Amino acid sequence: MTVTRATCEALDAADPLAFARDRFVLPDGVIYLDGNSLGPLPRAAAPRIAEVIEREWGRHLITSWNLNGWIDLPAKVGAAIAPLIGAEGDEVIVTDSTSVNLFKCAAAVLRMKPGGAIVATRGDFPTDLHILQGLASLTGSELRFVEEDELVAAMTGASLVVLTHVHYRTGLIRDMAGLSAAARAAGARVVWDLSHSAGVVEVQLNGCEADFAVGCGYKFLNGGPGAPAFVFVPRRHQEAFHSPLTGWLGHADPFAFVDRFEPAQGVARALCGTPPILSLAALETGIATFEGISLAAVHAKARGLTSLFIELVEDHLGDAGFTLQSPRDSHLRGGQVSFAHEDGYAVVQAMIARGVIGDFRAPTTVRYGFAPLYVRYVDVWDAVRALVAVIQNGEHRGERYAARKAVT
Ligand SMILES: *Cc1c(COP(=O)(O)O)cnc(C)c1O
Repeated sequence: MTVTRATCEALDAADPLAFARDRFVLPDGVIYLDGNSLGPLPRAAAPRIAEVIEREWGRHLITSWNLNGWIDLPAKVGAAIAPLIGAEGDEVIVTDSTSVNLFKCAAAVLRMKPGGAIVATRGDFPTDLHILQGLASLTGSELRFVEEDELVAAMTGASLVVLTHVHYRTGLIRDMAGLSAAARAAGARVVWDLSHSAGVVEVQLNGCEADFAVGCGYKFLNGGPGAPAFVFVPRRHQEAFHSPLTGWLGHADPFAFVDRFEPAQGVARALCGTPPILSLAALETGIATFEGISLAAVHAKARGLTSLFIELVEDHLGDAGFTLQSPRDSHLRGGQVSFAHEDGYAVVQAMIARGVIGDFRAPTTVRYGFAPLYVRYVDVWDAVRALVAVIQNGEHRGERYAARKAVT
């Protein structure tokens, strides 16, 4: 059966998540397929931030740390993230950026088993690899960047493995249970980066016996630009987890003002300095966009949207130079689809000029993210129609998109 716009309208009419779109402010005339780099504005965010500014900061001033529970926000928002990633509420806390949290977890793992190598895969997310280079030079650890099919063998003699769960470029979902077990058998521990997983695919951290995880607040969790990130430390590792960044808010009793550092009990020891309250308030509204929604339903719709996109691109643009970089099996694919195209940057820019926002990842990747809470099947249809028009009219050609902007 050929898919038409009417087919897509019927899919939207039957979509059990259709109601969630109203939880966001989405500008007219824009199809937002970039949810994985910055989620859109939750409808509740602006009034909540205004309240925090005017009432809590403006009127209650410093008393808000107690009166309005500011001091508890990192743990409270962490507990709200926990069910989205298969963790217990006291195993997740919100703090710092993903990069900084990765450093803390990676260093804590090396401290648990000093002397072993650090393993990661080539082509994984740059900040993860860069942080590991800094950590290796600090600790003198051997650093092994390997290919995907060398991963398990490279774990022999390792202490630490760092992997993104959903790959930022291809959208591949890695086998969390299998790779965690392989690492365990080799005496190593894995730190999982859930930046492209949290809020779009089903994640069962405890179900997979995952050791540690970090993840991003501003992508599918809709926390706003530069939202703080989260850390997962399971109960079984909390006692042995020692963050290298022993800031005062990770202390057992920060307001005792003593000289000697003593870590807090539980995941709170992953905290470092004073939390960004305005950003935490925004992130809390982002997490609330998942209220009453199961990640199984979200993931199922992500599979539907991404499969439709691949099918339509290949049907309508089969000879236009797009090569699928994402897994074809929808069960191995996160909420994004990537195609390589030699004019990838210009194609993405020409699509943005038509109101379809995606992103480009050097050197040739055209990446579209399909966030199931607000993307409709008709949006997928309309985006592919725009892509057909761009290619047929050659809108991506010429001088206009020859120079790249700073952020792609
Ligand atoms: C987006 C992303 C990050 C972001 O890290 P920041 O410290 O917030 O800049 C980290 N890791 C992965 C895999 C990401 O996709």
